[in-house]
Amino acid sequence: MMNNLELLYSSQEIEQAISQIAATLNDTYKDKDPIIVGVLKGSLCFVSDLIRKLSFPFTLEFIRAKSYGLRGDKPQEVTIEGIDFDISHKDIIVVDDIFDRGETLHKILDELNKHHPASIKSVLLLRKKSKKMISLEPDYTLLDIEDKFVIGYGLDYKEHYRGLDGIYAFKSIP
Ligand code: 5GP
Ligand code: MG
Repeated sequence: MMNNLELLYSSQEIEQAISQIAATLNDTYKDKDPIIVGVLKGSLCFVSDLIRKLSFPFTLEFIRAKSYGLRGDKPQEVTIEGIDFDISHKDIIVVDDIFDRGETLHKILDELNKHHPASIKSVLLLRKKSKKMISLEPDYTLLDIEDKFVIGYGLDYKEHYRGLDGIYAFKSIP
């Protein structure tokens, strides 16, 4: 199963990057009590490792983002499910897996902003070098990747491979 995979980031490299971002967040949020909003399913490993390095009080919620339509030159339709918790006047930290063309994060921020939070920041594990569809940048990104399909550390290909402890690219798409 592993011969078709190229390791991009080992679990040690991921851990180091998470420690760095956690230090930044610990400073920024030291007197606050934000809501951490994880985006399922891809952020599952990232969220679970990140929250164990935080030293400020927070609550944790999850939402789901689903994309429809073929990925081409047109923007995809993204829908957000699960915003059923109270956001108004709260500080929000959105935690997601990949910033690719930006449509998903754009839609998430749009939907959350409708509920009048005090502030929103976004933390993205990976930033892909791809043609961005949207003029929006995440507040924090941890690791850069080439424009390749990646899996592992929560990320799937057809719902598999989420349990790999590093981040991998396929040498050839199966
Ligand atoms: P965007 O809306 O920024 O184009 O796409 C972001 C979403 O697409 C990510 O949250 C992720 O769910 C999915 N995605 C984009 N690139 C990859 C990839 O290389 N591997 C996997 N597993 N998902 C990806
Ligand atoms: Mg996603």
